Amino acid sequence: MTAHPVTLIRGDGIGPELAAVTRDVLEATGVSFAWDVVDAGENQMKTAGTPLPESVLASLRRNKVGIKAPITTPVGSGFRSVNVALRKELDLYACVRPCKTYAGVPVPHTHKAIDLVIVRENTEDLYVGIEFERDREDTARLLETIREFRPGAVFGRSCGISIKPISVERSRRIVQYAFDYAKRNGRKRVTAVHKANIMKFTDGLFLEVARQVAAENPGIDFNDRIVDNMAMQLVQSPHDYDVIVLPNLYGDILSDLCASLVGGLGVAPGANVGTNGALFEAVHGSAPKYAGQNKVNPTAMILSGVLMLRHLGEAEAAERLEKAVGRVLKEGRNVTYDLRPGKSTTGAVGTREMGQAIIAALHT
Ligand code: NAD
Repeated sequence: MTAHPVTLIRGDGIGPELAAVTRDVLEATGVSFAWDVVDAGENQMKTAGTPLPESVLASLRRNKVGIKAPITTPVGSGFRSVNVALRKELDLYACVRPCKTYAGVPVPHTHKAIDLVIVRENTEDLYVGIEFERDREDTARLLETIREFRPGAVFGRSCGISIKPISVERSRRIVQYAFDYAKRNGRKRVTAVHKANIMKFTDGLFLEVARQVAAENPGIDFNDRIVDNMAMQLVQSPHDYDVIVLPNLYGDILSDLCASLVGGLGVAPGANVGTNGALFEAVHGSAPKYAGQNKVNPTAMILSGVLMLRHLGEAEAAERLEKAVGRVLKEGRNVTYDLRPGKSTTGAVGTREMGQAIIAALHT
């Protein structure tokens, strides 16, 4: 059997412990991997002077498939997000986040089972990182230009600016991806989310392109929702939705909301997919306060591994692993604190022990 070459990024905070357990579980499926274990993030910043060494990018470009534990991004100042940089550098334009109910996982509402998929555009919108800091010369000049072209514009004098580009090409690419995903996975409807009533030239463009792409893809239903309404709809009637396609920022926010509907960040997996590769990662971040405690839930990263197995053409192993995870969740005996009633540590097991229970379930 040929081993699949895969880059494993260990990450920060809770990342390294999740990476270790996920690797053990993936190996227990019997699929053969040639791991290239690399580091990126805060520690690399300290030791290598960059949070994203070129060797990490080179490994991903070579292997074309990676699985990544979460990486910390300093809030407000410090280095820019490694996660965003990886998606940008490798043009991993589609962020796919399935939200599915598993029996035994405590959920906030007693809806019938939820099974929807978020498809988030990953490369533009406010995440391009073009920002102008308040009270600086370049910002003042930009504000002058804006006043010149939009004389009625009203904003304060000490003003920061973030730029939100949304293009026809990239909107078309992500919406077509959502339709292709729907067709490949037997799904019935795509919903586009926007705020086109307010941002007519960015979200309005996204909606216009989404409608064009929908017309070119008969056989899959299409509708659209304004993002604030969508937030409410997802809480009230999530089972009305199937594949949801969104610009970057709305996708980020609503995928956390959807994660909470199916039991929280501990069980929400994800994939970043492009034409030349794919990087799999949980929706959650590096939860630094839990680092090194063998406490957090490995399910989200392991289910991201299930998505990776499918991407690698290992559908049967993916199926077996998802069933094994499902069994451990349903039994509820070997699960981490976040899945216990009231998030109590009483009766909870650690990250490693939950991983071992999943491996045992794989072998029964
Ligand atoms: P977070 O997702 O790290 O944690 C928020 C809370 O969710 C935690 O306090 C915890 O209660 C819960 N949680 C998260 N993962 C869990 C798990 N596996 N099991 C059980 N509970 C879990 O979000 P944050 O605190 O806003 O961000 C921390 C850092 O992570 C920030 O630096 C942020 O930029 C970064 N981040 C990274 C990624 C990524 O690497 N893809 C994604 C999101 C955030």
